Amino acid sequence: MTVANPRLDSLRKILDQERSSGYQDSTVIGGMDRFLQHRPGELRPVIGDTGSYSILTPLQREEWVRAVEARLATSDAASAARPDGAADRPRAKKPVAPIRLDADVSAVKGLARQTLAKLKRLGVEKVEDLAYHFPNRHNDFANIRKVSELELGQEQTVLVSVWEAWVETRQGPRRRSTQAILCDETGNVRAIWFNQPYLASTFKAGTNLVVSGKVNVFRGNFVFESPEYEILRGQEELVHTGRLVPVYPTVAALPQRTLRNAVKRVLDSSLSQVVDFLPEDTRHRAGLMRLPNAIAQAHYPDTVSDWASARRRLAFDELLLLQLAVVRRKREWQQEDLGIPLNTDAALVGAFLDSLPFSLTGAQSRVLSEVLDDLAQSRPMSRLLQGDVGSGKTVVAAAALLLAALNDRQGAMIAPTEILAEQHLITLRDLLSSGEGGHEEANSITVRIGGLPRPVTVGLLVGSMSKRAKDEMRDRIRDRDVDIAVGTHALIQGDVDIPDLAVAVVDEQHRFGVMQRASMREKGRRPHLLAMSATPIPRSLALTLYGELDISTIDEMPQGRQRVRTRWLEPEGRATAYAFIGKQVEQGRQAFIVCPLIEGSEAIQARAATEEYERLSSDVFPELRLGLLHGRMALGEKEEVMALFKAGDVQVLVSTTVVEVGIDIPNASVMLIDGADRFGLAQLHQLRGRVGRGRHESYCILLADSPGQDARERLKLVERNSDGFELAEEDLRLRGPGDYLGTRQSGLPNLKVARVSDQDILAVAQVEAIRILGSDPELATEENALLAQRLAKDTANLPTEIS
Ligand code: ADP
Ligand code: MG
Repeated sequence: MTVANPRLDSLRKILDQERSSGYQDSTVIGGMDRFLQHRPGELRPVIGDTGSYSILTPLQREEWVRAVEARLATSDAASAARPDGAADRPRAKKPVAPIRLDADVSAVKGLARQTLAKLKRLGVEKVEDLAYHFPNRHNDFANIRKVSELELGQEQTVLVSVWEAWVETRQGPRRRSTQAILCDETGNVRAIWFNQPYLASTFKAGTNLVVSGKVNVFRGNFVFESPEYEILRGQEELVHTGRLVPVYPTVAALPQRTLRNAVKRVLDSSLSQVVDFLPEDTRHRAGLMRLPNAIAQAHYPDTVSDWASARRRLAFDELLLLQLAVVRRKREWQQEDLGIPLNTDAALVGAFLDSLPFSLTGAQSRVLSEVLDDLAQSRPMSRLLQGDVGSGKTVVAAAALLLAALNDRQGAMIAPTEILAEQHLITLRDLLSSGEGGHEEANSITVRIGGLPRPVTVGLLVGSMSKRAKDEMRDRIRDRDVDIAVGTHALIQGDVDIPDLAVAVVDEQHRFGVMQRASMREKGRRPHLLAMSATPIPRSLALTLYGELDISTIDEMPQGRQRVRTRWLEPEGRATAYAFIGKQVEQGRQAFIVCPLIEGSEAIQARAATEEYERLSSDVFPELRLGLLHGRMALGEKEEVMALFKAGDVQVLVSTTVVEVGIDIPNASVMLIDGADRFGLAQLHQLRGRVGRGRHESYCILLADSPGQDARERLKLVERNSDGFELAEEDLRLRGPGDYLGTRQSGLPNLKVARVSDQDILAVAQVEAIRILGSDPELATEENALLAQRLAKDTANLPTEIS
């Protein structure tokens, strides 16, 4: 006689119990999911495809219990053990066919075509992407307060309806906010949303809202300041589920409800297909949840602490995969003997350094010798050179490029924009000719440094040059008539042939990986790569994100560099700021005025800048010569304005953030950043770095309309702190690495869950990565097979083309 399987028996008892308790998930301590997950192997045939019981509604639970019982009844062990009874129970409906996780998201039933398009904008293409579309936060419907119970300074949620909402305007067009009176049966409370006047028309009287946030006191009454909110429309049932309900990042006109339903459907149908790719050992050592459970809890956590555990697991995955990817990439890049060892003779470098009008700072010298050491190796260099704005990175890069030329090889300098490429041509000319000039043509210059064996020709190749000029430059580069080519990414990626490329310098880019892959495609030798960044990356993060790079840091400013005096002004200070600019211009100086960031396309931003330019020209500075610079202008127009500004013919340059990097106007002494509350720390610091580049005392004025708490903190930091590294650390603390680095562009997987503050998780991930690769460098063993698969998938998703 067959003996009943005790696991199946206890499952049967649990199901019975659940039914009699009304499907409250109260039978198993810690929840049904825990029971199911402990014994997946034995139970899988009967529990079917539902990954999580806890996220089901009682009705769905009932259906699930019936389906499982039906399967139990038909399983051999069950019928042998209970020959009577079970088999006669009514059969449950056939469970719906699971949606495959790797299917296109259109496989999820009930999604309209427009919805699919919107999901695409959120980066959701496959079914799996929905499972990985995690909420920003949760509405705590388990814990809703009455208005009369609100307390000062606590995060709290109220369920209210709009009594009245209106737009409040203080002087000036951008200083508009939405104010509302919100009420429930116990009282009313005021709320204010800054800079979002459109909300007033959304919040019609009677609209039901969930509002979460802290309250402050204003004139003796409670006020929610810029709280999170959600409009309740036909989803009130959620409120009554009394749980943590996910609030997803979304795009315009894609309601939470639609997203929630879509995600829920995927979780219900497909969670069990999620393979936990972590080796068991690693998972245990790191004390992590299983993946399917982590995904379920990240969306519908049972408790706040379950959410934290889920997040921990998901962040760990991201950091571990990233770590494995960069370590392997470094190995692949730095294969011995594929590089081009250069003669870095001290006499060659010395002649260049002697020709400079200044001597290197200690930090520059140290970093230069690190670079020279690399260049002499037959292993290709892969180095990140970081240093604050104005710390003198370009000199180091110029030395490396010059060495390539002196070795009868070629160098390339790659800039993110055409304006910057042009600027680099000029900078290289000045550095390599010690101001003595040389032979200049339209797009190239030839300079000679005394004591060096040969002259060096630097050529410019950018998209906006005439076709003829481009063809000609391409030929000259191919024929080795140009030693150092300066341009944008097209140089490395396009059809430009740099036959003897030995040193490639990439400026202001976080796209090293892409660069490496681009140059690896070429057969044969690999150039030495030097990436420069003025957005310093704190060491802890750099090691994770860019473990593939060696890092050199210039942590010292050239002597006599002035600290830019920085002032944050309240909106009332606007007139003072303009008057100050007027005075500086009177003294012969020039000024930048950066326009507020406007949400939306570059076209919208350009239009706003144009309006601001017109307003300033006619109303504020009718006597001065103003110029306008924005991203939508043709390159020729931009160049013209920059040339006028450089020559002093334009006194005040009104611009968008296109002036953010690299523009060098020593006579400019004021940087006015309007709407400074909307810029990130790193961006503010970069913008400030545009002034203080000459011998004049320089100023940065931050004008902020109505900064929220975070913005106030940022502005205070910039006002106090002129050190880019410290600011970068702060920025990361405030915003997390994804935002900071734009990891999407970086050629690295997007960090959705991990944050820099996850230092502890990061440390564990690093240890585990080293352990795993230490014992299995190729991830070839059985226990690492799933991990290897997952890593290959991630790597395949990395961008291979630069947009
Ligand atoms: P960044 O690191 O922002 O690219 P640059 O290389 O453009 O900085 O240098 C900023 C300015 O400082 C340039 O005008 C450069 O000639 C000058 N500079 C660089 N190194 C020194 C130095 N050691 N002493 C004095 N001036 C220097
Ligand atoms: Mg620079």
